[in-house]
Amino acid sequence: MAGILFIISAPSGSGKSTLVGELRQQVSGVDFAVSWTTRAPRGSEEDGREYHFTTREEFQRMTDAGLFLEYAEVFGKDLYGTPRQSLDDALASGHDLMLDIDVQGAAQVRSKMPEAVSIFVLPPNPKELRTRLRNRSRAEGVMNEGELYRRLSEASREIEKYRDYGYILINDSLPRAVAQLEAIVQAERFYRNGETIAYRSRRVLEVAAACLQSNSQERLKPVLEAFGIDGLTGQQQLPFGDDSDDD
Ligand code: ADP
Ligand code: 5GP
Repeated sequence: MAGILFIISAPSGSGKSTLVGELRQQVSGVDFAVSWTTRAPRGSEEDGREYHFTTREEFQRMTDAGLFLEYAEVFGKDLYGTPRQSLDDALASGHDLMLDIDVQGAAQVRSKMPEAVSIFVLPPNPKELRTRLRNRSRAEGVMNEGELYRRLSEASREIEKYRDYGYILINDSLPRAVAQLEAIVQAERFYRNGETIAYRSRRVLEVAAACLQSNSQERLKPVLEAFGIDGLTGQQQLPFGDDSDDD
C-alpha cells in the first residue's frame, strides 16, 4: 500500500483506545479500521463507530467468505476481526491505516505484511491497570468482576509479546504518550515517504527514536518486573498481582 500500515496492541485497559482517539483528533491522513466483533456493545459504544457488532453465526459467515484480513478469539470468549475492506479503502485513498488489534491478530498481519509498523502500549504497572479497568467499568455503569479479571489475567501473557513490536509506549502520563504516538507516525512518514518535517519540529524524530524497542530497555525494565516478566527472556517469572490494597 502507498500509505503506512500501523498496528497498535496493548493489554486491555492500558489506554490504547484513549491514545488512538487523541491521535485521530490531532493527525490527518490516518484511517482507523472499524473491526467486527461478537462482543456486546459497552457503555456509549455505537454500532459502526467503535465496532461493527454482530453474531457468532454472521462472523463465521464472514470468515468463510474471506472478508477478514485477520481475526482472533480474544480472552477465549469473543471473536474480533479486521475487514479487508479497510485496507482496500486506505490503499485507494493513499492514506495510512491504523489497526487496533490484539497480539494474535498483530502476528497474523505481520506475517502477511512485514513492512507494518507495530506499536505496543504498556500500562506502568498491574495496579494501575486494574484501577483503569475498574474506572472504565464504573464510567460505563457496568461492573463485571469476572470480565475484569479475565482481562487482567491475560495482561502478562500479552506483555510477553512486546518483543515482536518495533515501538514501545508506556502510557503513564497520557499527554506524553499521545505526543510519542504522534511522533512515531510523523517519523515513519518522514523516513518512509520522505514527508517533510519543519526544522523546528525535528525533535519528533528524537522522541520517536527513543520509543524504538531497541532504545526502550531501561524504561521497560521496571514495567516488566512489575508484571513478573524477565526482561532478558521475556518470559513470565511469577504470577503478578497484589490484591491486598484493592480499591
Ligand atoms: P484500552 O483501549 O487499552 O482497553 P482505554 O483507552 O479504554 O483502554 O482506557 C482504559 C481506562 O484508562 C479509561 O477509563 C481511560 O480514560 C483511562 N486512561 C487511559 N490512559 C490513561 C492514563 N495515562 N492515565 C490514567 N488513566 C488513563
Ligand atoms: P475490547 O473488547 O476491549 O474493545 O478489545 C479487546 C481486545 O481486542 C483489544 O486487545 C483489542 O485491540 C482487540 N481487538 C479489537 N479489534 C480487533 C480485531 O479486529 N482483531 C483482533 N485480533 N483483535 C482486535
